[in-house]
Amino acid sequence: EIKNVNEGYFGLYGSFGIHREMIGDKVRMDAYRGAILKNPSLFKGATVLDVGCGTGILSLFAAQAGASRVVAVEASDKMASVATQIAKDNGTLWDGSTGIINVVHGMIEDLDKSSPIPHHSVDVLLSEWMGYCLLYESMLTSVLYARDRWLKPGGAILPDTATMFAAGFGKGGTDIPFWENVYGVNMSCIGREIVQDAARFPIVDVVEGHDIVTDSVVIQTFDLATMRPEEMEFTVSFELGIKLNGSVNNPTDLKSKTTWCYGVVLWFETGFTSRFCKEMPIVLSTSPYSPKTHWSQTIFTFREPIAMASGKHDTDGMAAVGTEACPVVRIQSRISIARAVQHRSIDISLETMGI
Ligand code: SAH
Repeated sequence: EIKNVNEGYFGLYGSFGIHREMIGDKVRMDAYRGAILKNPSLFKGATVLDVGCGTGILSLFAAQAGASRVVAVEASDKMASVATQIAKDNGTLWDGSTGIINVVHGMIEDLDKSSPIPHHSVDVLLSEWMGYCLLYESMLTSVLYARDRWLKPGGAILPDTATMFAAGFGKGGTDIPFWENVYGVNMSCIGREIVQDAARFPIVDVVEGHDIVTDSVVIQTFDLATMRPEEMEFTVSFELGIKLNGSVNNPTDLKSKTTWCYGVVLWFETGFTSRFCKEMPIVLSTSPYSPKTHWSQTIFTFREPIAMASGKHDTDGMAAVGTEACPVVRIQSRISIARAVQHRSIDISLETMGI
């Protein structure tokens, strides 16, 4: 379970710090800005709905791209008034006769009550709804609600795909190396204890590409244009084999070499695909192999690291155990993601064994 911000969720978004972090995330910003500004034929003259506009930055981009009307909905009191001010200061606020951006203060779920717009009248639905591990915060439910009510049949949703990935990480992805040599002092007992503790819950932190020791697999893909909210809950099995570096693979060498896998890391990508972004499709990636984002990665540490070796190993009919003496070839995992009883958090369970 990822512990959660439950109460005061919109209060949290009312503080500028979180918006500073999102707007300071260049990978995030470039993806959204590119998807909007480099696809002008999608936006020219369009009616746009921005679900959870925050500062209104995506609405401003949509206005710059030629949208004729942008409805920017924001639940946080503070941010709705800030977005109004920003749209005004930038000459785009709709004042009832001129302007483009209409900031609506309220939950998207209450739009029919507060300032109704005709159902199925929106050409483009824009939102930045992704949480840690993609689904934490579950704002996606609100986006799908908006899609079903206000998007025109065949209208665009941006982003329109989301994909979750998994891979195994090595010692470098843990705190162990940090404590192994502290100005020449061996403090590895601390590192070991931290890794033991880490096995109790997922951690949001950065894992670098060179700390990944297995191949990467897709665990789930979502088509935002068609998916149903129930699809956010799923159980999938996946297998991870040792990463082949693409360098000279000497099989004899690899066979003798043990790779320790300390846990599984999850990340996601969202796609602004050519389905709607015909002029310039874009991918927003939070992969360990891509530049860092404020989402980092989500780390699930094993209680004990698993020893892996590539190629076939001779177990003489013994069960694969993943120790140094008996390394495994592949790691098999099953992950379940479910919405927690507590609103906005998610329950994740990950079971793993070597095979
Ligand atoms: N679009 C902005 C902000 C993204 S953060 C940007 O890209 O910078 C998500 C925002 O959505 C937060 O400001 C949050 O308060 C708002 N939000 C979340 N759920 C909402 C809902 N159901 N209705 C309206 N706003 C919501």
